Amino acid sequence: MATKHIFVTGGVVSSLGKGLTSASIAMLLERRGLSVRLQKMDPYINVDPGTMSPYQHGEVYVLDDGAETDLDLGHYERFTHAPLNRDCNYTTGKIYMSVIEKERRGDYKGKTVQVIPHITDEIKNCIRKLVTPGVDVVLTEIGGTVGDIEGMPYYEAIRQFALDAGRQNCLFVHLTLVPYLKAAGELKTKPTQHSVMELRKIGIQPDVLICRTEREIPEGECEKIAQFCNVERRAVIEEKDKELSIYEVPLGFADKKVEELIAEKLGLGLPKPLQIDDWRLLVERLKSPAHEVSIGFVGKYVKHRDAYKSVYEALDHAGIAHHAKVKVVRIDSEKLAVEGAAKALATVDGLLVPGGFDKRGIEGKIDAIRFARETGLPFFGICLGLQCATIEFARNVAGLAEANSTEFNKTTPHPVVCLLEEQQEVTKLGGTQRLGAYPCHLLAGSKAHRAYGADVVSERHRHRFEVNNHYRDALTARGFIVSGTSPDGGLVEAIELAGHPWFVAVQSHPEFLSKPTHAHPLFRDFVGASLERRKARKEEARSRVAVNAG
Ligand code: GLN
Repeated sequence: MATKHIFVTGGVVSSLGKGLTSASIAMLLERRGLSVRLQKMDPYINVDPGTMSPYQHGEVYVLDDGAETDLDLGHYERFTHAPLNRDCNYTTGKIYMSVIEKERRGDYKGKTVQVIPHITDEIKNCIRKLVTPGVDVVLTEIGGTVGDIEGMPYYEAIRQFALDAGRQNCLFVHLTLVPYLKAAGELKTKPTQHSVMELRKIGIQPDVLICRTEREIPEGECEKIAQFCNVERRAVIEEKDKELSIYEVPLGFADKKVEELIAEKLGLGLPKPLQIDDWRLLVERLKSPAHEVSIGFVGKYVKHRDAYKSVYEALDHAGIAHHAKVKVVRIDSEKLAVEGAAKALATVDGLLVPGGFDKRGIEGKIDAIRFARETGLPFFGICLGLQCATIEFARNVAGLAEANSTEFNKTTPHPVVCLLEEQQEVTKLGGTQRLGAYPCHLLAGSKAHRAYGADVVSERHRHRFEVNNHYRDALTARGFIVSGTSPDGGLVEAIELAGHPWFVAVQSHPEFLSKPTHAHPLFRDFVGASLERRKARKEEARSRVAVNAG
């Protein structure tokens, strides 16, 4: 059977959760036995989000093949098993770059190169790249909001695509907002009508409308939306805000049998009954956790929730694994440097230092790590977190008081973290870091080895700097353990400390491989150690009270 296509567009406002909606639809279809692929088109000009500030764009999500992508791809991977690669995220910059390269090569044989048909053809080819043998459904999410100038070529391309592939093989799902107006005391359907009108103006008639709303949409309003938007009533789906967790979204769709509606409209059979008990269980665990643990999160972009999206998700997954609510105490690393680590971390049960770039806030992170090392507070360092832990140990244990990374001080006398030779030649910023999946050999008996339960693992990377091998012996002589390396032993991939309850840092980004149903082993054990610490602290406090009372 021909591969079917689902196009997900958004209207009214941005940030409606198209990524989550797309991931949820794909998840349900996959769990009904179909093979699904997902892809996102981002209408901005950057070739990828790799060079954008996390404030602008949120986290850069890295794939195995080293593609730096939009954070929605994180939802795709957490909700489904669909394999993702660099064909799963295109931007206008990437599309134009390819067209311009072809033009320079002379591929267009003297023609005037234009948005239509050359850019639109390129977009259609990018969609077709995901159609491989055995794939039942390709879901393509169009970023931005209908009506945006920069999105136009994408809408035109998907309109044409449906014509080429056959309308019966394509489904347009449009996500809109039905806002509640307090002053009027009612839900308003007009913005939805207008955004559908906008789509119809460019020749796209949506088949399914997903209406984001704070409150239940009364039947009469649903009928109105159906009527004015020319969509069947049963294809007007309410998606009420979820109070607790994004992981409730697919359950809401499952209850409404959205996957059956979609399959029916595409003329697709659903080979298996829906099996979703594991997902219901994890939402249950989120709803009624048996324990609580508090994690100090010391980073530069803590004010922006999306900047460390996958790390927060992975902490939640670890919480699910332990029946625990993970309370993240976000601490600005610059403020910590002023306030002092002891005060800032007084009430937390564990410390996490995530990835990051440039010098700002580094000293605060190093102070926080010192506090964790000296007090036995469980510590988990990710990428920059590992580099800061190395600097801290070199300065305060190995006696190299001025140790630093050359990223922060080019002339440090002790560059314990530095650039490899191949990185020193690099002049362009975009796409030139150590990116994507690399194997890591683990030291038998180490905490990392115990957590993973494997000798060799693969993790995704995104960084330029590395631990300087020149200092390895000086550090390991003082209790610094290199617990993971590249296969040839040349690159430090993981470290830990002897005699500390749980002090582990990795050069990679394990957060990208964590799933709600399978917490990443390092996150799981870090949260486990933090729960132990909390328990011990409580018991200690109790016995202190008992002694005082006695
Ligand atoms: N800035 C550091 C480097 O480039 C760490 C990067 C990161 O944490 N992702 O090596």
